[in-house]
Amino acid sequence: MRAIGIESGDDRPRLFDVARPDPAPGEVLVRTLRVGVDGTDHEVVAGAHGGPPDGEERLVLGHEAVGVVVDPTTTAFERGDVVAPTVRRPPPDGPNEYFDRAEPDMAPPSACVERGIDGAHGFMSEYFTSPAQFLIPVPDELAEWGFLVEPTSVSEKALELARASRSSFTWDPETALVLGTGPLGLITVAMLVPEMTVYCLGRRDRPDPSVDLLEALGATYVDSRETPVTAVPDAYESVDLVYEATGHARHAVDCVEALAPGGVAALLGLPGASAFTFDGGHFHADLVMHNKAIVGSVNAGPSHFHAAVDRLASFPPWFFEDYVTEIAPVEGFEAAFDPDTPMKTAVEFDTL
Ligand code: NDP
Ligand code: ZN
Repeated sequence: MRAIGIESGDDRPRLFDVARPDPAPGEVLVRTLRVGVDGTDHEVVAGAHGGPPDGEERLVLGHEAVGVVVDPTTTAFERGDVVAPTVRRPPPDGPNEYFDRAEPDMAPPSACVERGIDGAHGFMSEYFTSPAQFLIPVPDELAEWGFLVEPTSVSEKALELARASRSSFTWDPETALVLGTGPLGLITVAMLVPEMTVYCLGRRDRPDPSVDLLEALGATYVDSRETPVTAVPDAYESVDLVYEATGHARHAVDCVEALAPGGVAALLGLPGASAFTFDGGHFHADLVMHNKAIVGSVNAGPSHFHAAVDRLASFPPWFFEDYVTEIAPVEGFEAAFDPDTPMKTAVEFDTL
């Protein structure tokens, strides 16, 4: 069967022929429909993050998938069920406390592998297998967009952590600042606009499809070249919630200044080394005196995947059409990896 992967040392993904996997009892064989591409895939392709399973030279890519059950073996799934797989799996030495507690997202990198990213093959192949406990049911109506369950789950978790950090007092957030107009930032804008006033910071010239989309959702575009994060309170207002999805390390510090008293910033970006100077005393005192919080968040657990399915079901249909800008066929899969394509791309292996 056809699979899209990256060889160690190569600089671009390629199409390979690999053996179709055979499900063991307790596993499910899934026919792949679509697999999304995000910033993490670009980092894996660039060799900046992750790598193949131990002892192998090639990694099958893809961690944002949706597919259809073709062989449920001994599991409770039925042939024809639409499913989205989770990403984190036990490491080669077997399950540990994080998997026992169904909290793989809380595992440190050494205590898990990530399918399609680090140490385990991904889902960019015509078929894949997975133990049943790592498959999330998706309603048939969402089959086309089910590859968005994984990235949405990442935001579900971050927003839950942010709320939990404010749970000891009355916190009714009315304003949010999303940093980044990439796929993660924009799906989070879509999640937040029904609940609060949302600002979204980017660095794009109009006309730009990502700016058009955030404005169509009802958010306000903040151009960081005119209004940096620290200027947002004066130019607009202080915000109760910051959601950082730029990977720009300085934002982790600057965003605290944009927070209203009692506010919280959720950091999602994964910057490389980045040295800069800032007033640590001001930063420290601002956090303390105004009861502000910063939480870091990575990956997502099963409850966040289920929440993501419900969330996607609540989005207006036009959102998917505007947000997903490229569905590439397997033979032209390169289009889904073009870093210049805005927002969300995916490779289509098959249809329902
Ligand atoms: P992208 O790289 O596609 O998007 C990043 C966005 O931030 C782009 O719109 C970029 O603008 C913008 N940006 C970067 N620097 C600045 C800046 N200084 N000022 C204004 N805007 C800026 O990534 P994704 O949306 O896929 O992901 C966002 C981040 O989250 C990445 O760092 C990614 O690695 C990380 N991530 C984290 C996960 C987690 O579990 N924690 C899961 C998935 C992703 P432009 O397009 O104009 O360059
Ligand atoms: Zn992703």
